[in-house]
Formats: sequence, C-alpha cells, structure tokens
Amino acid sequence: MADQNSKLYQLTLKKASEKLKSGEISSLDLTKAVFERIETVEPKVGAFITLTKELALKQAKESDKRRVAEKTLSEIDGIPIAVKDLFCTKDVRTTAASKILDDFIPTFESTATQKLWDAGAVLIGKTNCDQFAMGSSTETSAYKETKNPWDLKRVPGGSSGGSAAAVSADMCMAALGTDTGGSIRQPASLCSIVGLKPTYGRVSRYGVIAMASSLDCIGPMTKTVEDAAILLNILAGEDESDGTTLPIAVPDYQKSLDGNIKGLKIGIPKEFFGEGMDPEVDKIVREGISKLKNLGANIVEVSLPTVKYALAVYYVIMPAEVASNLARYDGVRYGHSKAKSEKRKAKSLEELYIDSRTEGFGDEAKRRIMLGNYVLSSGYYDAYYKKAQQVRTLVKRDFEEAFRKVDILATPVSPTAAFKFGEKSGSPLEMYLSDIHTVPINPAGVPAISVPAGFTSNNLPVGMQLIAPQMGEEKLLNVANQFEKIAGITNIKPEL
Ligand code: GLN
Repeated sequence: MADQNSKLYQLTLKKASEKLKSGEISSLDLTKAVFERIETVEPKVGAFITLTKELALKQAKESDKRRVAEKTLSEIDGIPIAVKDLFCTKDVRTTAASKILDDFIPTFESTATQKLWDAGAVLIGKTNCDQFAMGSSTETSAYKETKNPWDLKRVPGGSSGGSAAAVSADMCMAALGTDTGGSIRQPASLCSIVGLKPTYGRVSRYGVIAMASSLDCIGPMTKTVEDAAILLNILAGEDESDGTTLPIAVPDYQKSLDGNIKGLKIGIPKEFFGEGMDPEVDKIVREGISKLKNLGANIVEVSLPTVKYALAVYYVIMPAEVASNLARYDGVRYGHSKAKSEKRKAKSLEELYIDSRTEGFGDEAKRRIMLGNYVLSSGYYDAYYKKAQQVRTLVKRDFEEAFRKVDILATPVSPTAAFKFGEKSGSPLEMYLSDIHTVPINPAGVPAISVPAGFTSNNLPVGMQLIAPQMGEEKLLNVANQFEKIAGITNIKPEL
C-alpha cells in the first residue's frame, strides 16, 4: 500500500481524477504524495518560488468533503496544480520572479486561477520563471536557477521553466504557464511534457502580470494531450474583465480527441527547417512527421515567406509593450520602493522612480524597457514600431494563406535541445534566436502545441510543434493526441 501511495504523484491528471472518482484515493492522499515527492526532488530541481503546502492540504480536505457530500465541482476537483509566479493569486505572494515585486501579495485573483479554484483544484505553489516572463531559460529569474530534470546541468527552457520542470519531475499533476513568444511550448519541449498555447483571446489574461499584451497567452502544461484538453475546458471562455477574450462558446475539447486524422492535410513550412537547426533535433521532428503520415495524414510542403521577419517584428513590438506595461512599477503604488527604506529616503519624486526601478528590475527587464522606449520615441516610431506592425499583418496573412491549403502545420519547437547554464545568457541575441520557431505564432494569434517527439543521443527531450488556424484547438488537440499515442514516449520519465 505504501509503495502504491508513493507513486501517486506519477499519475496523469486524468488517471488521478478517475481514482478520486472511484474512491480509490482521496485528494489528501494525492496532495500528500505530491508534497513527499517535492521534498525529495525539489532541492535538486528548484522549480518553485513559493510552496503553499498548508493551503494545499486545506483545499484537499475541502475537496474530499465535497466528494463525500456528492458535491464534487468538476473533473479537476482535488487535483494538485502548480501555477507560474506571474498569475496573481489572492493572499499568496506573486513575484513575476523579479525583486521589484518581492513583497507583492495580490488582493485579487487572476481569472484563470479563479476558474481552477472554482473547479476545486488544489494550489501546490508558484513556479519559477524568467523575470516578467522575459527569457528562454529561466535564468533571468531574480530568485533561483531551475534545473532541467533530464540533466541538472541544463536549463529547463523558459520562461515557464519552473512549471515545465515541476510537471516533468512529477511535483504536480499539471501546471499553468504563459506564452508571449514560446514560453509554454519551448520549456515543454525541453522537458518532455505537453504545452498548449491557445488562440489569442481564448483564455482570459485578467490578473496575469502583463508582459506584451497583444501577444500574451495563458495555457496548460501537462503530462498528456488529454490533460491539456481537460484544463482548456476549464480555462477557456469570454471574460468581462479582459476585453480581448473572444465571445465564442467553449466546446468540450476532450470530445475532439478521438478523431481519425486520415486524409488530413499537414503542412510542413520549409522556412522552419534548415539553417541553425541541430541535426538530431531536425531528424526527430522529421521522423515525427513520418509518423503522422503513417496515421494517414497527407504531408504537403508549404511556404510562409514573411515568417523570416517574425523574430525582428517580435523584438520591436514586444519591448514596446513591455515598456508601457512595466511603467506601473514606479516605487509608489506597490512592490519595491526606495520610499520604504527609512535610511535612504529619496530626496525627490524623480529619484524615487529612478532608484526604485534601478534596484528592482533585473538586466533583461531594463534592456527591454530601453529598447521599447527607443522604438516608440518620436522620430523612430514610424521607422520601427509602425513598420513592425505592418509586417506583423503580413506574417498573420502568411498563416491565413497556409491554412487555406492545409489543416495543421508541423514544425520544430526549438532549434536545439536543452542547453547548459550560461551557454547563451552572455549573448542576448543568441538567446533570442533560440525562439525562432515559436515566436512567429504569437504575432499571428493562432494556437500551437508542443508534444514530446523523442530524445537526442544525450537523452535530452525534443518536442514537435503543431499549429492550427485561429480557434482550431479541437483539430489541434486531436492531431496532437494521435501523435502522442503513436510516439509512445509519455511514460518515459527523468531519473531523479
Ligand atoms: N523567450 C521569449 C522572450 O524572451 C518568449 C518569452 C515568453 O513567451 N514569455 O521574449
């Protein structure tokens, strides 16, 4: 029995939910098993900024009481879930992995997390990430390094690296992440889990600390595609607190998982292969595409000619929005403030702003604030920001054009597998280039998913990216699920 219990943490969300339903286990058993796992592996991995054990045990007991009273709220009632430290959680510290929010305890809850608690989920803790979600390795966190569970000398990817590592190391059943240019998909690929970036506007951004508001998306990071579908059912939907959410009914995404993909047209955009790709990663993704072919899909080569400008477009629009969004951290309203220091009180308002921001923001945030203000400044606005918006439209049209010919696109997620700490952090440009395959999706606003596809000869995970047209999540999840089944590697776990 003890042995059985000690493995509860390995369950998928779906399996755990079934065992809760049948009465085989309680949410308290499951939550305790997860915390035992955390005690053993978290010292090695470092996935969390804050653990909420007391709250979790309380929520688990409440879930068990509901179940006894036959008042269970949903399929995820009693399921332990981790949340990226970018989602505001009422009365639970929320840092965005930045010192400027070191002592920030929100007085409100994000819509996405509120939906989880309304469905009965249990909060395990807040996961580490790149500072304000800026990065691809979780190295820009002001708090700690998160290690890749597959090789502790390597990064877990980013910016949702803590969430990916926590799911991969079985420290939660599932996690929430955010994706502005790849932050759900790239760490999912590097840690061998499933990461779904939904259509822009499908999931509310209310209460999630903003990075670049026209690109930010919220999504699930899970052990399986089915688990991602279950969570999307809960997260999706219009929200009056986020005017960009789409007023479109939410289907049952779980029901879309069993479709046949025979005859489906899968496009391979030639611009995503070739230069800069690690040959092993390239091979694994191409083998993945052959597997889709074996399932009866028609593989068609397509071209997205303007996609080569997408990274440049992103690195103009994103910093412009970052500069505006981060203006609110001024040392007055909340977060780190020089005014709070008795000894070194600022002598003027300007000094208060400058010193609070200088002390509170890390280098990457400062770099992007400066870039953003530069591209928005008069004299440069037309040359950079306006031009980037125009090219963004072309990128979007390229995707629309491709989706007139094919149902789904298949590409690599990242040009390489997980890299070593420090390998790219010295060169921002090299780090930015690692997002070349994930970034174009966000300006286009379409949904995309990373599904585990294989391992390199060093035993490092590699994911495959599938992309669908706007609101094409049902088709996307179906293809991803069929691929996951045929790839058959979901059960392979890192040794920790
Ligand atoms: N790595 C990309 C960046 O640094 C994307 C980050 C994200 O999606 N939040 O901007």
